[in-house]
Amino acid sequence: MHRPTVVSTVSELRQAVAAAHAAGKRVGLVPTMGALHEGHLSLVRASQAQCALTVVTIYVNPSQFGPGEDYDRYPRTLQADLDALDTCGGESLVFVPRNEEVYPPGYATWVEVGEVAEPWEGQCRPGHFRGVATIVLKLFNMAGADVAYFGQKDYQQVQVIRRMVEDLNVPIEVRICPTVREPDGLAMSSRNAYLGPESRRQALLLWNSLCLADELVRQGCRDASIIREKMRERIESVPDARIDYIALADPDTLRPVDQISGRTLAALAVRIGNTRLIDNRLLELPEKNVARKTQT
Ligand code: AMP
Repeated sequence: MHRPTVVSTVSELRQAVAAAHAAGKRVGLVPTMGALHEGHLSLVRASQAQCALTVVTIYVNPSQFGPGEDYDRYPRTLQADLDALDTCGGESLVFVPRNEEVYPPGYATWVEVGEVAEPWEGQCRPGHFRGVATIVLKLFNMAGADVAYFGQKDYQQVQVIRRMVEDLNVPIEVRICPTVREPDGLAMSSRNAYLGPESRRQALLLWNSLCLADELVRQGCRDASIIREKMRERIESVPDARIDYIALADPDTLRPVDQISGRTLAALAVRIGNTRLIDNRLLELPEKNVARKTQT
């Protein structure tokens, strides 16, 4: 067990990171909103494997929640989070800022990312990525870490952050880590805490429909609209499920594809009762199709 140090001001954070850098240590950053689960901890472990100091930030960022979303009821479990971080072992520093530290009076600067931020979450949650890009850039600037770790679970978010880092010449390396799932396949999420037993069972639909898409591609289906339709049918078989979007897209640009001709991202957002869940999966063409395609 290695009790992490907790700081709440930017100056304490900067001091600790400067000391680590002065000692020749590589510094990793894992931004989170807390209510930590194995998905978050996998990012912490990835950072600890590559960096001598890991900064974990725990901050429920108000600017990425829209009106009527779950900012007020978002789970806040700091003590349990610190206990969970204890079990990770390596050297970590936890940054838990207050709202006034992040958005002091007079705050007026926002980061807007273009194309990759527009569809899907961008359309369903107006202003969400403006809040995300802004807080992530602020955390990058506050911490001055060398590398930052994000989960594939929030695929579009990672693309938005990568775009921002490239466009704004932010001196940090961005790493993406695989989605950690419950044994039955449900992607771990802090919002799973909202699910009652029946909704929890229904939530498995997201992963089921992504597996169905994968299966269809393996069987030779290449028509994206057919795959989307089958996914839709699967999800709508549960009366409490409401689809926000189902997308099949190029994994880099997030532009929709009509035909599956290479690695394709399947992504979706579904509401189960009051709980909005997202998930995604990269669909791979069977080996022989890829080989044939590169030959032609
Ligand atoms: P959040 O606390 O939901 O803002 O997530 C913080 C970071 O953890 C983001 O980079 C997420 O993509 C990542 N994350 C959340 N859930 C998972 C998961 N199930 N597997 C891997 N990473 C995750």
